[in-house]
Amino acid sequence: MSDLRELYQEVIAEHNKNPRNFRWMEDANRMAIGVNPLCGDKLTVYLKVDDQDNVTDMSFEGSGCAISVSSASIMTQMLKGKKVQEAEKLFNTFHEAVTLDNRQPDLEGLGKIAALAGVKAYPSRVKCATLSWHTMHAALEGEEWASTE
Ligand code: ZN
Repeated sequence: MSDLRELYQEVIAEHNKNPRNFRWMEDANRMAIGVNPLCGDKLTVYLKVDDQDNVTDMSFEGSGCAISVSSASIMTQMLKGKKVQEAEKLFNTFHEAVTLDNRQPDLEGLGKIAALAGVKAYPSRVKCATLSWHTMHAALEGEEWASTE
């Protein structure tokens, strides 16, 4: 288990140092700004969704702690090329894995974002880990803002 935790810490550190899809998207057709006042994380999530509900491109920008940035980076990697419905399903799976008690998280179903599932032990960091996901969800719902508070 400690090997796994080390691996997860490496994944988080690596994505924080070198975030994927970290850019403004000029032709995004969905976007929202997410804020986590407790930590000071502020991220903008951009999506391009085609008329068949495919997420054809996804990016983010902004500033935040290592947990929020790495979670956003992994999220954009995971969701690009997916259907909107699959994106929403992964959001629910991840959210449940880090918030619900008495539940064995479905780490396999989480894919790469399983690296962030360990934040469950640190309630204040759960908001950092889920910020970009709430923001993505808000963008798909047509909302402009998402806040963890
Ligand atoms: Zn944070």
